[in-house]
Amino acid sequence: MNKQAPYYQTIGKEVEVFEHAYKNKIPFLLKGPTGTGKSRFIEYMAYKLGKKLITISCHEETSSTDLVGRYIIKGAETIWSDGPLTTAIKQGAIIYLDEIAEARPDVIVAIHSLTDHRRELFIDKLGETIKAHEDFMLVASFNPGYQKGFKELKPSTRQRFIATAFAYPEAKIEAEILINETGVDAGIAKKLVNIATKIRNLTELGLTETVSTRLLVDAAKLIHSGLPKRLSVQVAIVEPLTDDLDVVEALKDLCNLMI
Ligand code: ADP
Repeated sequence: MNKQAPYYQTIGKEVEVFEHAYKNKIPFLLKGPTGTGKSRFIEYMAYKLGKKLITISCHEETSSTDLVGRYIIKGAETIWSDGPLTTAIKQGAIIYLDEIAEARPDVIVAIHSLTDHRRELFIDKLGETIKAHEDFMLVASFNPGYQKGFKELKPSTRQRFIATAFAYPEAKIEAEILINETGVDAGIAKKLVNIATKIRNLTELGLTETVSTRLLVDAAKLIHSGLPKRLSVQVAIVEPLTDDLDVVEALKDLCNLMI
């Protein structure tokens, strides 16, 4: 069965760069804030290249065991179960480690030998080294976040990847994404993008993260499905951004004027 291609609006040269990275099997790092299309891009590339994609959303508890595999007890037996990274290496899939900097440090150690010429994984619990399938590719994302609370990625790790920066697309392209993704009309799409541009420029609000394309897509979906415009913008854009009541009120006023 032929799956439909995921919709992805190309922003710059990222598709071309990824194709060459894949051809040369160089690990690929997607840098950028949340909701800027990183996951969608990788879904699109996996589809385009006809490769299976295995995605891991990394968090503070993600350990190398979660990725590599573990012994599990089945009835009276203890059997080895491959983790998603080991599966990807054996099957020649693309593995996407989303928010890699959030994972425990042993994850970074585990992938080292996969990110250089060796392209192999040492499974210490089995005492085995596995060579990666030639189609295997490692992709990771990272949110550089200039505010406190974001985890950094060490230079020695970063330099194992080629990197592409994702940011908010220019207004015309972002409006196009809203129209294609949600079916909302061009007038509403333009207004939503204007709201986003305005809020993104309000650095004095001290928001940890600002309006992402994802929030705009959500607002557009609600409007398109018939929820009143002001309410849609409030629940999809304003409330997710902050809990500070004064900021919420200020943003609500601004959005009410602009939608
Ligand atoms: P990230 O992985 O960067 O957090 P996502 O890839 O999940 O972000 O993007 C969030 C949403 O924004 C997507 O589900 C999609 O609706 C929309 N989006 C953002 N950028 C694009 C793009 N270039 N093309 C198509 N959709 C996009």
